[in-house]
Amino acid sequence: MECVMTGQPHVEIDTSKPHPARMYDWYLGGKDNYPVDEEMGRQMLALDPRVPVMARVNRAFMHRATRWLAGQGVRQFLDIGTGIPTEPNLHQVAQQVAADARVVYCDNDPIVLAHAAALLRSTPEGVTEYLQADVRDPAAIVEGAKKVLDLSRPVALSLIALLHFVSDEDGAHQLVNRLLAELPSGSYLVMTHATADFSPEESAAATAKLKAAGITLALRSRAEFARFFDGLELVEPGVAIVPEWHPELGEPVPGQEDGVIPGYGAVGRKL
Ligand code: SAH
Repeated sequence: MECVMTGQPHVEIDTSKPHPARMYDWYLGGKDNYPVDEEMGRQMLALDPRVPVMARVNRAFMHRATRWLAGQGVRQFLDIGTGIPTEPNLHQVAQQVAADARVVYCDNDPIVLAHAAALLRSTPEGVTEYLQADVRDPAAIVEGAKKVLDLSRPVALSLIALLHFVSDEDGAHQLVNRLLAELPSGSYLVMTHATADFSPEESAAATAKLKAAGITLALRSRAEFARFFDGLELVEPGVAIVPEWHPELGEPVPGQEDGVIPGYGAVGRKL
Protein backbone atom coordinates (compact mmCIF):
# COMPACT_ATOMS: atom_id res chain seq x y z
CA MET A 1 0.00 0.00 0.00
CA GLU A 2 1.22 3.47 -0.74
CA CYS A 3 1.89 6.20 1.73
CA VAL A 4 1.33 9.72 0.44
CA MET A 5 2.71 12.71 2.29
CA THR A 6 1.06 16.09 1.97
CA GLY A 7 2.39 18.03 -0.95
CA GLN A 8 1.39 15.34 -3.46
CA PRO A 9 -2.33 15.04 -2.82
CA HIS A 10 -4.42 12.93 -5.13
CA VAL A 11 -7.91 13.27 -3.74
CA GLU A 12 -10.93 11.36 -4.98
CA ILE A 13 -14.01 11.37 -2.75
CA ASP A 14 -16.45 8.47 -3.17
CA THR A 15 -19.87 9.88 -2.30
CA SER A 16 -21.73 6.70 -3.31
CA LYS A 17 -21.24 5.01 0.08
CA PRO A 18 -20.81 6.17 3.66
CA HIS A 19 -17.35 6.59 5.21
CA PRO A 20 -16.58 6.49 8.95
CA ALA A 21 -14.63 9.79 8.93
CA ARG A 22 -17.55 11.60 7.30
CA MET A 23 -20.19 9.99 9.52
CA TYR A 24 -18.14 11.03 12.55
CA ASP A 25 -17.99 14.56 11.16
CA TRP A 26 -21.79 14.51 10.80
CA TYR A 27 -22.20 13.33 14.44
CA LEU A 28 -20.02 16.26 15.52
CA GLY A 29 -22.13 18.73 13.53
CA GLY A 30 -19.45 19.28 10.87
CA LYS A 31 -19.93 20.20 7.22
CA ASP A 32 -17.56 17.74 5.56
CA ASN A 33 -20.05 14.94 4.95
CA TYR A 34 -22.42 13.84 2.20
CA PRO A 35 -26.07 12.67 2.09
CA VAL A 36 -24.96 8.98 2.22
CA ASP A 37 -23.07 9.67 5.46
CA GLU A 38 -25.99 11.51 7.04
CA GLU A 39 -28.38 8.74 5.97
CA MET A 40 -26.26 6.04 7.63
CA GLY A 41 -25.64 8.33 10.61
CA ARG A 42 -29.40 8.67 11.11
CA GLN A 43 -29.75 4.89 11.02
CA MET A 44 -27.14 4.64 13.78
CA LEU A 45 -29.01 7.29 15.79
CA ALA A 46 -32.22 5.31 15.42
CA LEU A 47 -30.44 2.42 17.19
CA ASP A 48 -28.83 4.63 19.82
CA PRO A 49 -29.69 8.34 19.95
CA ARG A 50 -26.57 9.03 22.02
CA VAL A 51 -24.10 8.46 19.17
CA PRO A 52 -23.37 12.23 18.84
CA VAL A 53 -22.66 12.41 22.60
CA MET A 54 -20.30 9.44 22.23
CA ALA A 55 -18.44 11.23 19.44
CA ARG A 56 -18.00 14.33 21.62
CA VAL A 57 -16.99 12.24 24.63
CA ASN A 58 -14.40 10.54 22.48
CA ARG A 59 -13.02 13.84 21.22
CA ALA A 60 -12.86 15.10 24.83
CA PHE A 61 -10.83 12.01 25.80
CA MET A 62 -8.31 12.89 23.07
CA HIS A 63 -7.99 16.39 24.52
CA ARG A 64 -7.47 15.14 28.09
CA ALA A 65 -5.05 12.36 27.17
CA THR A 66 -2.98 14.69 24.98
CA ARG A 67 -2.84 17.29 27.76
CA TRP A 68 -1.79 14.59 30.22
CA LEU A 69 0.93 13.24 27.89
CA ALA A 70 2.35 16.68 27.11
CA GLY A 71 2.37 17.30 30.87
CA GLN A 72 4.47 14.15 31.29
CA GLY A 73 7.05 15.64 28.92
CA VAL A 74 6.03 13.81 25.73
CA ARG A 75 6.97 15.95 22.74
CA GLN A 76 6.28 13.58 19.83
CA PHE A 77 2.87 12.31 18.76
CA LEU A 78 1.86 9.82 16.07
CA ASP A 79 -1.93 9.97 15.65
CA ILE A 80 -3.43 7.33 13.35
CA GLY A 81 -7.09 7.55 12.31
CA THR A 82 -7.00 11.31 12.83
CA GLY A 83 -10.35 12.11 11.29
CA ILE A 84 -11.52 15.29 9.60
CA PRO A 85 -10.00 18.29 11.39
CA THR A 86 -12.17 19.45 14.32
CA GLU A 87 -10.83 22.21 16.55
CA PRO A 88 -8.96 21.81 18.72
CA ASN A 89 -6.97 19.14 16.95
CA LEU A 90 -4.38 17.08 18.75
CA HIS A 91 -1.44 19.31 17.79
CA GLN A 92 -3.24 22.39 19.11
CA VAL A 93 -3.79 20.72 22.48
CA ALA A 94 -0.20 19.45 22.65
CA GLN A 95 1.37 22.69 21.43
CA GLN A 96 -0.62 24.70 23.94
CA VAL A 97 1.29 22.80 26.64
CA ALA A 98 4.57 22.53 24.69
CA ALA A 99 4.99 24.78 21.65
CA ASP A 100 7.77 22.52 20.31
CA ALA A 101 5.59 19.39 20.09
CA ARG A 102 5.97 17.40 16.86
CA VAL A 103 2.88 15.67 15.51
CA VAL A 104 2.42 13.23 12.63
CA TYR A 105 -1.20 12.63 11.63
CA CYS A 106 -2.32 9.70 9.53
CA ASP A 107 -5.63 8.55 8.04
CA ASN A 108 -6.59 6.42 5.05
CA ASP A 109 -9.64 8.44 4.01
CA PRO A 110 -9.00 10.88 1.15
CA ILE A 111 -11.37 13.40 2.72
CA VAL A 112 -8.94 13.85 5.60
CA LEU A 113 -6.14 14.50 3.11
CA ALA A 114 -8.41 17.04 1.39
CA HIS A 115 -8.71 18.96 4.66
CA ALA A 116 -5.22 18.32 5.95
CA ALA A 117 -4.22 21.99 5.64
CA ALA A 118 -5.96 22.63 8.98
CA LEU A 119 -3.79 19.94 10.56
CA LEU A 120 -0.62 21.54 9.29
CA ARG A 121 -0.87 24.92 11.02
CA SER A 122 1.84 24.22 13.54
CA THR A 123 3.50 26.60 15.93
CA PRO A 124 6.83 27.82 14.49
CA GLU A 125 8.67 25.88 17.23
CA GLY A 126 6.86 22.60 16.53
CA VAL A 127 6.10 20.52 13.45
CA THR A 128 2.99 18.87 12.05
CA GLU A 129 2.84 16.49 9.10
CA TYR A 130 0.07 14.44 7.52
CA LEU A 131 0.44 10.96 6.01
CA GLN A 132 -2.21 9.35 3.88
CA ALA A 133 -1.80 5.70 4.85
CA ASP A 134 -3.68 2.71 6.17
CA VAL A 135 -3.05 1.50 9.72
CA ARG A 136 -2.98 -2.03 8.28
CA ASP A 137 0.30 -1.02 6.63
CA PRO A 138 2.41 -0.10 9.68
CA ALA A 139 5.68 -0.26 7.72
CA ALA A 140 4.56 2.62 5.47
CA ILE A 141 3.48 4.66 8.50
CA VAL A 142 6.76 4.11 10.32
CA GLU A 143 8.72 5.07 7.23
CA GLY A 144 6.73 8.30 6.83
CA ALA A 145 6.77 9.13 10.55
CA LYS A 146 10.56 8.78 10.71
CA LYS A 147 10.92 11.80 8.43
CA VAL A 148 9.49 13.99 11.18
CA LEU A 149 9.84 12.12 14.47
CA ASP A 150 13.00 10.89 16.20
CA LEU A 151 12.09 7.30 16.97
CA SER A 152 14.92 7.00 19.49
CA ARG A 153 12.90 9.32 21.75
CA PRO A 154 9.46 8.65 23.30
CA VAL A 155 6.41 8.93 21.08
CA ALA A 156 2.74 8.88 22.06
CA LEU A 157 1.02 6.59 19.56
CA SER A 158 -2.70 7.37 19.48
CA LEU A 159 -5.30 5.12 17.87
CA ILE A 160 -8.43 6.90 19.01
CA ALA A 161 -11.75 5.43 17.91
CA LEU A 162 -9.84 3.64 15.14
CA LEU A 163 -9.37 -0.05 15.86
CA HIS A 164 -13.07 -0.87 16.01
CA PHE A 165 -12.80 -0.46 12.23
CA VAL A 166 -10.08 -3.12 12.01
CA SER A 167 -10.98 -6.80 12.39
CA ASP A 168 -8.90 -9.53 14.01
CA GLU A 169 -8.51 -11.06 10.53
CA ASP A 170 -6.88 -7.82 9.45
CA GLY A 171 -4.44 -8.18 12.35
CA ALA A 172 -5.61 -5.44 14.74
CA HIS A 173 -3.52 -6.66 17.67
CA GLN A 174 -0.47 -7.51 15.56
CA LEU A 175 -0.34 -4.10 13.93
CA VAL A 176 -0.34 -2.38 17.33
CA ASN A 177 2.55 -4.60 18.43
CA ARG A 178 4.36 -3.88 15.19
CA LEU A 179 4.02 -0.11 15.67
CA LEU A 180 5.01 -0.25 19.34
CA ALA A 181 8.08 -2.33 18.48
CA GLU A 182 9.43 0.70 16.58
CA LEU A 183 9.11 3.00 19.60
CA PRO A 184 11.52 3.30 22.53
CA SER A 185 10.74 2.70 26.17
CA GLY A 186 8.90 5.66 27.70
CA SER A 187 6.56 5.77 24.69
CA TYR A 188 2.80 5.54 25.17
CA LEU A 189 -0.16 3.81 23.55
CA VAL A 190 -3.38 5.87 23.69
CA MET A 191 -6.65 4.26 22.65
CA THR A 192 -10.42 4.43 22.75
CA HIS A 193 -12.60 1.70 21.32
CA ALA A 194 -16.34 1.08 21.01
CA THR A 195 -17.81 -2.00 22.70
CA ALA A 196 -20.97 -4.11 22.55
CA ASP A 197 -20.62 -4.97 26.27
CA PHE A 198 -23.51 -2.74 27.38
CA SER A 199 -26.01 -3.14 24.53
CA PRO A 200 -25.36 -6.36 22.58
CA GLU A 201 -28.56 -6.28 20.52
CA GLU A 202 -28.32 -2.69 19.27
CA SER A 203 -24.61 -3.23 18.65
CA ALA A 204 -25.25 -6.31 16.52
CA ALA A 205 -27.86 -4.38 14.52
CA ALA A 206 -25.43 -1.47 14.00
CA THR A 207 -22.65 -3.85 12.95
CA ALA A 208 -24.95 -5.53 10.39
CA LYS A 209 -26.12 -2.21 8.92
CA LEU A 210 -22.57 -0.94 8.54
CA LYS A 211 -21.42 -4.22 7.05
CA ALA A 212 -24.15 -3.98 4.40
CA ALA A 213 -22.76 -0.54 3.54
CA GLY A 214 -19.20 -1.86 3.27
CA ILE A 215 -17.92 -0.71 6.70
CA THR A 216 -16.32 -3.23 9.06
CA LEU A 217 -17.23 -2.65 12.71
CA ALA A 218 -15.24 -4.87 15.10
CA LEU A 219 -16.64 -4.10 18.54
CA ARG A 220 -14.50 -5.58 21.32
CA SER A 221 -15.11 -6.59 24.90
CA ARG A 222 -13.28 -5.05 27.81
CA ALA A 223 -10.85 -8.01 27.89
CA GLU A 224 -10.19 -7.80 24.14
CA PHE A 225 -9.53 -4.07 24.47
CA ALA A 226 -7.23 -4.59 27.47
CA ARG A 227 -5.19 -7.08 25.42
CA PHE A 228 -3.92 -4.21 23.21
CA PHE A 229 -2.02 -3.07 26.31
CA ASP A 230 -0.38 -6.41 27.10
CA GLY A 231 3.24 -5.81 28.09
CA LEU A 232 2.64 -2.10 28.77
CA GLU A 233 2.19 -0.41 32.12
CA LEU A 234 -1.35 0.97 32.28
CA VAL A 235 -1.54 4.55 33.51
CA GLU A 236 -4.07 5.12 36.32
CA PRO A 237 -7.04 4.50 36.27
CA GLY A 238 -6.34 1.67 33.79
CA VAL A 239 -9.04 0.65 31.34
CA ALA A 240 -11.94 3.05 31.92
CA ILE A 241 -15.27 3.95 30.42
CA VAL A 242 -14.15 6.81 28.14
CA PRO A 243 -15.48 9.83 30.15
CA GLU A 244 -14.10 8.36 33.37
CA TRP A 245 -10.45 8.52 32.27
CA HIS A 246 -8.95 11.52 34.14
CA PRO A 247 -12.14 13.63 34.05
CA GLU A 248 -10.38 16.36 36.03
CA LEU A 249 -8.33 17.29 32.94
CA GLY A 250 -11.29 18.66 31.01
CA GLU A 251 -14.95 19.60 31.07
CA PRO A 252 -17.75 17.00 31.02
CA VAL A 253 -19.67 16.67 27.75
CA PRO A 254 -23.37 17.54 28.14
CA GLY A 255 -25.41 14.32 28.21
CA GLN A 256 -22.52 11.98 29.04
CA GLU A 257 -24.10 11.05 32.38
CA ASP A 258 -27.32 9.69 30.80
CA GLY A 259 -26.33 6.02 30.92
CA VAL A 260 -23.03 4.27 30.25
CA ILE A 261 -20.99 5.42 27.27
CA PRO A 262 -20.26 2.17 25.40
CA GLY A 263 -16.56 2.68 24.83
CA TYR A 264 -13.29 2.02 26.65
CA GLY A 265 -10.28 4.27 26.89
CA ALA A 266 -6.80 3.71 28.27
CA VAL A 267 -3.21 4.92 28.14
CA GLY A 268 -0.28 2.55 28.58
CA ARG A 269 3.44 3.18 28.91
CA LYS A 270 6.10 1.11 27.22
CA LEU A 271 8.59 -0.13 29.80
N1 SAH B 1 -9.34 9.82 16.01
C1 SAH B 1 -10.37 10.79 15.67
C2 SAH B 1 -11.30 10.28 14.56
C3 SAH B 1 -12.02 8.97 14.84
S1 SAH B 1 -13.07 8.48 13.48
C4 SAH B 1 -11.14 11.12 16.93
O1 SAH B 1 -11.19 10.28 17.83
O2 SAH B 1 -11.74 12.18 17.02
C5 SAH B 1 -12.12 7.11 12.85
C6 SAH B 1 -11.11 7.52 11.82
O3 SAH B 1 -10.32 6.37 11.49
C7 SAH B 1 -11.70 8.02 10.51
O4 SAH B 1 -11.12 9.26 10.17
C8 SAH B 1 -11.33 6.95 9.49
O5 SAH B 1 -11.10 7.47 8.19
C9 SAH B 1 -10.07 6.38 10.10
N2 SAH B 1 -9.78 5.01 9.65
C10 SAH B 1 -10.64 3.97 9.58
N3 SAH B 1 -10.01 2.87 9.14
C11 SAH B 1 -8.71 3.22 8.93
C12 SAH B 1 -7.55 2.53 8.47
N4 SAH B 1 -7.62 1.24 8.12
N5 SAH B 1 -6.38 3.20 8.40
C13 SAH B 1 -6.31 4.52 8.75
N6 SAH B 1 -7.36 5.22 9.18
C14 SAH B 1 -8.56 4.60 9.26
